[in-house]
Amino acid sequence: MKNSFSTKTHWHLIEKTTSRISTISNDLPKAIEREELRLHYQPKVDLVTGKVVGLEALIRWEHPELGLIFPNEIIPVAEELAEITTIGNWVLSQACRQSKEWQDNGYPPMIMSVNLSMQQFTSGDLVATIEGTLNEVQLLPRYLELEITETMTANIPETIQTLKRLKSLGVRISIDDFGTGYSNLTHLKNFPVDVLKIDQSFIRDLTENPIDQAIVRTIIHLADDLKLEVVAEGIETADHFRFLKDHNCLVGQGYLFSKPVESRFLIEKIHFIESGKYLA
Ligand code: C2E
Ligand code: MG
Ligand code: MG
Ligand code: MG
Repeated sequence: MKNSFSTKTHWHLIEKTTSRISTISNDLPKAIEREELRLHYQPKVDLVTGKVVGLEALIRWEHPELGLIFPNEIIPVAEELAEITTIGNWVLSQACRQSKEWQDNGYPPMIMSVNLSMQQFTSGDLVATIEGTLNEVQLLPRYLELEITETMTANIPETIQTLKRLKSLGVRISIDDFGTGYSNLTHLKNFPVDVLKIDQSFIRDLTENPIDQAIVRTIIHLADDLKLEVVAEGIETADHFRFLKDHNCLVGQGYLFSKPVESRFLIEKIHFIESGKYLA
């Protein structure tokens, strides 16, 4: 029997959603000057030694009325409003500054990963911006990693040029969400990238699903043959961790180790991870 509830249009919900979207688009351009943007950091862990080897910076927005807003609601709106470059530059400089500050405070250097959006990647001055930020912050390029997605590698000649120029600055390039885009493997051959990040959708059911296992093993082998590093995203369970470690995936990140956290909680998190207590 069909119930009237499911077929009725819930205007109050639609209105609520519409007003949320318009609040977000109205307020986003002012978020930087109002100092409402934050970066949270998620550790990347060497699965063999258990040490934290890197951090991924992930944007958050502390909206005064709506509370914490996540990138799935920030990035598309920022692209739409052509605010992505401003926001992307803020992320880049904030992440580099934080990384440098930790190093200056005597913590062991860790590679800082920053996600790039399509518009940022294809904008003409990305390379100059990155070079400028590194100089200004005095962070060595080898401590910065840029995460791009496969879809961003679709526009071949320009992409290769941009990647080569970035590589010649000395920064690392990683392909995020690997396996979910239009994986054209011949591109990989020509792209000067350093890292493949296995998308979390292949990890979620890894221990039960033989297809995911085959995909994950294949990406690890591919990375190995191409002399690329491989990182697994979305490690949530000890079983995920063991499978990946047993199949020679050397680096991983996921809720098993830590959710993305504010910088002030990071040192504590790193101690927790390096104590191995997540397996207890
Ligand atoms: P991503 O780069 O693939 O980042 C991984 C996302 O998965 C993050 O979500 C992270 O919190 C989440 N995650 C990490 N470990 C686990 C896990 O074990 N289980 C599950 N279920 N999720 C996990 P977040 O922070 O919401 O970011 C979503 C996406 O938004 C990112 O995906 C990235 O594509 C984009 N993004 C985030 N920050 C920025 C930014 O500063 N600039 C740009 N252009 N994009 C960003
Ligand atoms: Mg990423
Ligand atoms: Mg990803
Ligand atoms: Mg993603």
